[in-house]
This record gives sequence, structure tokens and C-alpha cells, in this order.
Amino acid sequence: MDEMTQRTVYVNGDYVAERDATVSIFDRGFLLADGVYEVSSVLGGKLVDFPGHMGRLKRSAAALEIALPWDEETLLAIHRELIRRNALDEGMVYLQLTRGSAGDRDFHYPDADTQPTLVLFTQAKSLVDARSGREGIRVATQPDWRWARRDIKTVQLLYPAMAKMAAKAAGADDAWLVEDGMVTEGASNNVWMLTHDATLVTRELSSAILPGITRAAVMTLAETLALQLEERAFSVEEAQQARECFVTSASSFVTPVIAIDGVPVGDGRPGEVARRLRAAYIEESRRRAL
Ligand code: PLP
Repeated sequence: MDEMTQRTVYVNGDYVAERDATVSIFDRGFLLADGVYEVSSVLGGKLVDFPGHMGRLKRSAAALEIALPWDEETLLAIHRELIRRNALDEGMVYLQLTRGSAGDRDFHYPDADTQPTLVLFTQAKSLVDARSGREGIRVATQPDWRWARRDIKTVQLLYPAMAKMAAKAAGADDAWLVEDGMVTEGASNNVWMLTHDATLVTRELSSAILPGITRAAVMTLAETLALQLEERAFSVEEAQQARECFVTSASSFVTPVIAIDGVPVGDGRPGEVARRLRAAYIEESRRRAL
């Protein structure tokens, strides 16, 4: 990035130009992927589902015994200051919290007085008018070879990155991960299908998947729209034969899935229920954004 487009980022208490932002080479996030993260989307300069994202950050940090010495109000102020300094209208704020650096490499956790590392940066992106939201995406299935605590939002994203590259090589836009014949989730989103008897199905929460903040919001919306809802696992074949499929995440909202491993879902075009839920989610998010 040139001088003019340098972002202002946040590192451990300071707002600095991205070029000047530094973290120790001994940081456990870098050496051991010992860290957690959150991505909150921004619409009209305001944060979507912020309390949900911060609630999950607290749970992720607690599950790994990483200190989080900032309260929600302070974290909101940092997010807002970054949005202001970067004049962000639409996009995301990325937050990463690591166990920090003990000044050397060691598997054991450092002393409790080691300062965690907190880094935040903004990403400008057109979310509402994304082509994937309008036209839908094609997914390719990959084995779910991640670790067994997927309910914790850690920065160990090598396997999701590999799965996305394999999906791209197969001519698809994203990967769906499969374990024991059942779809767990997308490489960076939760999965949904609409059955022919008009029931919305999404996998139940467990350590097998991330409890998506968008998933929770869309479940509430589905209830207001009087849609039948079922939380259970489904197979690739069942999804391929469903009336509709879609994925949810903070940065993609509700995005239709139009093909799975080359098999068209429904008539191979974005479904009506996905379209309605996407519109309702965007409207509700704009209304409730902080
Ligand atoms: N599942 C995984 C593996 C993810 O990485 C994400 C988001 O990055 C999600 C689900 C969706 O979560 P959210 O709606 O909170 O963005």
C-alpha cells in the first residue's frame, strides 16, 4: 500500500500506521497459533452484532485461559476509533488476541503476568452488493481435517486455507467440510439447507462447529418469518437434493449455494428463502448496528 492508503491499525494500546505496527517474533500467536480472533462487519460505519462477537471472544479466550483485560465498552471504543480513523463505511474490523510473548519459545504457557497481544485492523469491502450474495456460490466438499475444538475461534486457519485452495482448484468458490459423511460447516461459514417440505436445517451446536453469530441472528429471523427450523446434521447428498442451500457468516451475511461438487442445488439459481433471509438480515443489521 502506498503512503496515501496506509491504514491506521491498533496494536497493544497504540493507533499506528500499518507500516509501523510490530509484534514480537516470540509472540505465541506467531509461533504456536496460540490466539483467538473475531471479525465484525461494518455497515454505514456501524458495527453489526457487536455484543455477540465480543461474547464469543470472551468464551474463546476463557476456553484457552488467555487473559482478556479489556471490557466490552473499551473494545467497542477501540473498534469505533479505528472505524473513524480509517473512515470505514462498509467492510470488517478484524480483532486478534494472543497469549503474548514470554521472550522465547516454549510450549508451556508463560507466567500469568505476561501481557496478551491485542491487534485490530479494518478491511474495506463491499458486503451488501457482493456478487456472491446476488448470484450465489459453488462449493466443493473436502474432508474436515481440523482439530476437535472448532467451537473455539482460534487463529489456526491453515487447514481452512488448504481446503479453500483445494475447492478453488476444483473450480468452486468455497469449501464445505465433511466428517463421517455429514457436513460440519463451510471453511469459514455455517451451512444451511431448506428441505422440500420447507424446513430450514442447520447443524446443531457442538465442539464440531463454530457457533456462528450470524447463524444465531438468522435463526431468530427465521422464527419471525415463521419458517420451520431444525438443528441437525445433514449429508452432502441430502444437501445436493435440497430445495435451497446457503451459508452464513459475518462478512457474507446469507449467501446462496447454487452447486455442491458440481451438482446444482434446486434449479441452480439462488433460492427465494435465502434471498429473503439475506434482505431481512441486512435490514435488521442496519437497524441494530452500533
Ligand atoms: N464457521 C467457521 C469455521 C468460521 O470461520 C466462521 C466465520 O469466520 C463461521 C462459521 C461464521 O461465524 P460468524 O457468523 O460469527 O462470522
